[in-house]
Amino acid sequence: MALIVQKFGGTSVGSTDKIKTVAQRVLKNHRQGNRMVVVLSAMSGETDRLTGLALAMQHIPDQREMDMLLATGEQVTVSLFAMAVKEMGGDAVSLLGDQVAIHTDNMHTKARIYSIDPDLINKHLEQGKIVVIAGFQGVTDSGDITTLGRGGSDTTAVALAAAMRADACEIFTDVEGVYTTDPNVCPQARKIDYISYDEMLELASLGAKVLDIRSVGLAKRFSVPVHVRSTFSENIGTWVVEEDKIMESMLVSGITYSKNEARITIKQVPDQPGIAAKVFLPISDAGILVDMIIQNTTDGRLTDMTFTVLRRDYDRAMELLKKVAADIGAQAVSGDESIAKVSIVGVGMRNHPGIASTMFQILAKEGVNMMMVSTSEIKVSCIIAEKYTELAVRALHDAFALDKDNLPVEEAE
Ligand code: ADP
Ligand code: ASP
Ligand code: MG
Repeated sequence: MALIVQKFGGTSVGSTDKIKTVAQRVLKNHRQGNRMVVVLSAMSGETDRLTGLALAMQHIPDQREMDMLLATGEQVTVSLFAMAVKEMGGDAVSLLGDQVAIHTDNMHTKARIYSIDPDLINKHLEQGKIVVIAGFQGVTDSGDITTLGRGGSDTTAVALAAAMRADACEIFTDVEGVYTTDPNVCPQARKIDYISYDEMLELASLGAKVLDIRSVGLAKRFSVPVHVRSTFSENIGTWVVEEDKIMESMLVSGITYSKNEARITIKQVPDQPGIAAKVFLPISDAGILVDMIIQNTTDGRLTDMTFTVLRRDYDRAMELLKKVAADIGAQAVSGDESIAKVSIVGVGMRNHPGIASTMFQILAKEGVNMMMVSTSEIKVSCIIAEKYTELAVRALHDAFALDKDNLPVEEAE
């Protein structure tokens, strides 16, 4: 009897009808003799709606209370799902993160799972039930509800698959798998059949939200093969597995974008040792992640520093920086929330110089200005104005011919 973990995202459970359709699919798998653990997200739009409610109450919502609120979204879908299964003559039980128990640290709104207790799940499975678990949530040692960060239900699913040594971990979503870029932005995007953990990690970290980055990290660590596929078809999707030879030879394997970041500039900072530490220490102490950092070269006395943070941390970061700016005698702090990060990713670019300059040429041809650039061995990222995101993604996808295999020249011959 195989143990299968199946996760269904927000759009897959976005209405009572869709919940019934998904329940039917799971029940079919159960009746074929599999033990089924189902992880559900909140209905699509619900987590955003709840976030909006919180912001109407408090300018910067208390993080513990935020988690109490956000966790309710998933409670709705798991209970409705269990009811739907029962109505169809099956048996199911819904469980919240703290009931399971999914133990996390206490970093509210971005908690990390450190252990999962499989006993209760196993007990219900032995009784022949479909076990339906609320994604995206956990509990601290002191009993506080936590959430894992946006998109965190993927991580719940992979963590459960790892903890329970499941035979399969299937992530059902509203597209057919992992594509060369977001298929909802670029109609020419091509479905990838197999992708390595490392490449998926890079794509996810740069904005391909089809899989939450931490779910990929866990899958890699515990060697859980993940199958990303569509809720609305029976087609085979994308397998995320150990390093794969074909993927390795792709020059550019994917284009990503992220509208989750905001830019902050601190102007006319004294150009002295220790200043950067003074600027970034309060930010990291507040648990705010900084992504790109640029410091201008100057006459050696004063300099400007620009960096990006997640948009949801923007207000908190600005508040902290205004204090720091006053302390260190900086001239001003300014910011921009309407930016986007567009990246090209591919292990093949490791040995092929010139990819970055090609990217710059393509963007220039489209009249898209680059505000910041960062590169690594296998990616180039540019910060641009948010309004040009879709244009940039399509132009890059087209110019790098991602709708076809784009093997590096010597390997294609
Ligand atoms: P779910 O609610 O099922 O978790 P998400 O909205 O989190 O689904 O992720 C699926 C979405 O990810 C797709 O609808 C698509 O717009 C987007 N996406 C972004 N980049 C990619 C990509 N490279 N491949 C597939 N989907 C992508
Ligand atoms: N409901 C949460 C979100 O919208 C978690 C998830 O869907 O994975 O981010
Ligand atoms: Mg998701």
